[in-house]
Amino acid sequence: PNLPLFTQILHHAEIQRKHKPAIIDVKAGTSHSYRHLVSDIVELRKRLLKNAGTSVEDLKEARVAFLCPNGYDYVVSQWSVWSAGGIAVPLCITHPLPELLYVLNDSQSTIVITHSDFQEKINDIAREAGIKKVIVVCDKKQKYSQYNDVNFKSPSIIPMDDSRRAMIIYTSGTTGKPKGVVSTHANITAQVKSLVDAWRWNDKDKILHVLPLHHMHGIINALTCGLYAGATVEMMPKFDAASVWNRWMKPDNDLSLFMAVPTIYSKLIQYYKDNIPKEIQPLATQSCSQFRLMVSGSSALPIPIRNSWKEISGGVVLLERYGMSEIGMGLSHEYEIEKRFEGCVGVPLPDVQVRLMSEYGKDITMAVEQPGELHVKGPNVFKEYWNRPEATKKEFTEDGWFKTGDIAMITAKEKVFKILGRQSVDIIKSGSYKISALEIEKELLSHPDIQEVSIVGVEDPEWGQKVGAIVVLKNHSKLDLKQLREFAKDRLANYKVPTLLKVVNEMPKNAMGKVNKKELVKFFDD
Ligand code: ATP
Ligand code: MG
Repeated sequence: PNLPLFTQILHHAEIQRKHKPAIIDVKAGTSHSYRHLVSDIVELRKRLLKNAGTSVEDLKEARVAFLCPNGYDYVVSQWSVWSAGGIAVPLCITHPLPELLYVLNDSQSTIVITHSDFQEKINDIAREAGIKKVIVVCDKKQKYSQYNDVNFKSPSIIPMDDSRRAMIIYTSGTTGKPKGVVSTHANITAQVKSLVDAWRWNDKDKILHVLPLHHMHGIINALTCGLYAGATVEMMPKFDAASVWNRWMKPDNDLSLFMAVPTIYSKLIQYYKDNIPKEIQPLATQSCSQFRLMVSGSSALPIPIRNSWKEISGGVVLLERYGMSEIGMGLSHEYEIEKRFEGCVGVPLPDVQVRLMSEYGKDITMAVEQPGELHVKGPNVFKEYWNRPEATKKEFTEDGWFKTGDIAMITAKEKVFKILGRQSVDIIKSGSYKISALEIEKELLSHPDIQEVSIVGVEDPEWGQKVGAIVVLKNHSKLDLKQLREFAKDRLANYKVPTLLKVVNEMPKNAMGKVNKKELVKFFDD
């Protein structure tokens, strides 16, 4: 049997990395070496096993939920759950109580680890969920371990093979109730190795981590890849444009990687334009050239954001990738800058197999510019939805392919994948046409007054669905349906031109910066 990835990380930590900083916790103002991290993991693991009331050195896949802000405690919590043989259930710090309760109940967690800042918040719902053990990490007074290099004892990790369940991540709930996605250690190993390889992670890297830690993007791409590569992960408590720019412009900026969702890049651009004085802007631009790689994902990267970023960063072309909770990352731009084509998500990552299926069940992967459902197979693909055997069965074909529910095609020119959107909400059926909401969004974003746009299908007795546009406008501009249609008609086929318009002040989004189109469409309820 193969060893889980985290044990390899612990092993490397001890053999080669020892004193190298693994985690820099920006909020606490602390730096923790790889060895220090291991030492604290061992300590918390002991407490976990004790609290589980087991003398056996194994939590046997018990679910341990944890609520920690982005920082060192999060990492210690997750790794200690793994090294005790439990299943890690990370909770989102910004989720309202009912959502946290939903996750605790749905995952049937029996232990919760929390940072002292969230103790009260969690105590209430833990009680409601019938959880007896709440472990508080990082009281101001209480350190985990009395780390001391001389007395350092390496952890004796329970022997486990990588087919064990490692983690339950809840999907964003964009298309229904969030589902618990169970990944095994083998899945995580595959996901991490594939990205380390494709994005050339190495032990000289230093990443600034600003992403929420209840999703693949924050947990796997930015954190676990970093630790596996022996890099340093500098964790900010949460994203904030001013802090990020300030950090980058510090004279000792030695960061090499940054990963974010499109909304974050958009906020950084906004801040640069509105808040960084003209004479300082060249310094800000200069600070971006320090980075070897900047990645965007979790939702489609709007082309105006990609272009503005290139402009203000002095030429950084964002690398876009496509992934989901169920598969980790599936498709990615190639590393070479000239292959990061706009509006596309590149090619399959190493060891990930993909195909496109027509609605009649025909493999159309080789057909050019033909939309089909994206299917994925490989060691990265998750094991099951927690406690939902029916849902799991439904999402796999008989020959073992996972059906992503996303529609994609291969472009004629560059032969790379382009995501057209989710079958359920982004593919609008109007008359006899199937329309990609993402394609319309892309065109409308070139309107000088449009800041953000979401296209939705609005139920209609005559057409099946009508094309509705929800728009956020740039400073004080005005736009009515007639003007929007005039603009759209020059760029889109008639049947794609929106027939409904709603102007809003702000586009509602979740913690990952995603819009929930099932909610958005309610703007057109009357
Ligand atoms: P739920 O499954 O609960 O409806 P969700 O699918 O949004 O929520 P995630 O697993 O976090 O939850 O998100 C995966 C989805 O995000 C993908 O299926 C895809 O639709 C979208 N996505 C991710 N990256 C990209 C990208 N680069 N371009 C377009 N869409 C993307
Ligand atoms: Mg999904």
